[in-house]
Amino acid sequence: MTLLKHIPKVDKILEWPGLRELLARHPRPSVLAVVRDVLDTLRVAARAETLGEAELAEAAVTARIERELARLAAPSLRRVVNGTGVVIHTNLGRSPLAVGVRPHLDEIAFGYSNLEFDLDRGERGSRYSHVEKLLCELTGAEAALVVNNNAAAVLLALSALAAGKEVIVSRGELVEIGGSFRIPDVMRQGGAILREVGTTNRTHPRDYRQAVTPETGLLLKVHSSNFAVVGFTAEVPPAELAAIGRESGVPVMADAGSGSLLDLSRFGICGEPTVQEFVAAGIDVITFSGDKLLGGPQAGIIVGRAHFIAPLTKHPLLRALRIDKLTLAALEATLRLYRDERQARAEIPTLRMLTASPDELAARGRAILRRLRRTLPDMLRFALVDGNSQVGGGAYPLLELPTTLVAVDADGRSPQELEERLRRAPVPVIGRIHRGRFLLDCRTLLDDDLPLLVNALRGVAE
Ligand SMILES: *Cc1c(COP(=O)(O)O)cnc(C)c1O
Repeated sequence: MTLLKHIPKVDKILEWPGLRELLARHPRPSVLAVVRDVLDTLRVAARAETLGEAELAEAAVTARIERELARLAAPSLRRVVNGTGVVIHTNLGRSPLAVGVRPHLDEIAFGYSNLEFDLDRGERGSRYSHVEKLLCELTGAEAALVVNNNAAAVLLALSALAAGKEVIVSRGELVEIGGSFRIPDVMRQGGAILREVGTTNRTHPRDYRQAVTPETGLLLKVHSSNFAVVGFTAEVPPAELAAIGRESGVPVMADAGSGSLLDLSRFGICGEPTVQEFVAAGIDVITFSGDKLLGGPQAGIIVGRAHFIAPLTKHPLLRALRIDKLTLAALEATLRLYRDERQARAEIPTLRMLTASPDELAARGRAILRRLRRTLPDMLRFALVDGNSQVGGGAYPLLELPTTLVAVDADGRSPQELEERLRRAPVPVIGRIHRGRFLLDCRTLLDDDLPLLVNALRGVAE
């Protein structure tokens, strides 16, 4: 309790030379707020008798205030280094964009554009026109529309095609994606009535056929996303569902979730249909994300038959769910890369990471190791170990991609301390602890992450 009396007053602190300096660099109200916060923290510590006398020294208090002000001045949304090995990491911003997207994004972001202006006719145009042709060319669909994200795409499609009607879904596909996106809830929000068919593990064509009534508005297939049903299972493939829809005069929609435009089976990533396959199977409306396997910005992409996309383009919800121009610029530039499959694989980070071979990853691991050993002090020790990476983003939940990891040990620091220090670095490095070791997966480290990693590790050694 005695130290409580020694905590300086606000007025006194503001007269310290160090504080005068801070007041010259930061707005006065911010400095005052921080000083009061710091004093509160000191008082709490004093009452709990955890405060040391040294912490009340002028230099210590000033340094604390300065640190806090610097933290407030820095942006909250920041670059981080993803060493987790989860390629499409929802908490870390999902897909990083291809560097080739930057010039287009720059041009549109910092100038005016023909976002909704038809340059040929000199009159109002549509923002959706900029990617529709491209999406049709890439997927083979008749029509396309883009919105804010795939959740919005599903909501819009349900609202426009099935409000007040029944939507038939397999019990094996009533998925919760996380972040409170659950198919039954979205269905209710879209004004549709959920009609479950089949069982958790098996749904047959006859289940759909028997459920169709004059009240049916839509047959819906949902990608199981982040889970898998294994063992005694049956689901109705897209082409068969499309046929049931045609024979009963009901449109068929697929929420493809991640939605890939490339067949990645050559790289061991297989078992899910591409968007083109859904289109070719005759599915009327297909929705998927822009920032999952596609490797672009957050967006919801809708492709399909013109007759069924048209009501979506006229629905009042579209205005609330519409895509923004920065997203549109990044999406168009990303989609253009897909016109040449090899270019897409070479330039889109998500695809490059997913298709990296074990040899390539081992070689990258060795190069990283050399660099770290050369530049960092001896108290940090590095080794390469084998392990597995994950696709993430609700795609291929069971798939384990063989990879090379850098194990980091620091003399006198536990893996937990190491993890925390790297997470608190100026550019945070996020890794994982496995069997008592701190690990960084070479698969998800980008080329320009290396200097950031070196800096963060240097901070650990200090
Ligand atoms: C991820 C996912 C969504 C949501 O997509 P967002 O782009 O995150 O809105 C919807 N459905 C499925 C099946 C998904 O995997």
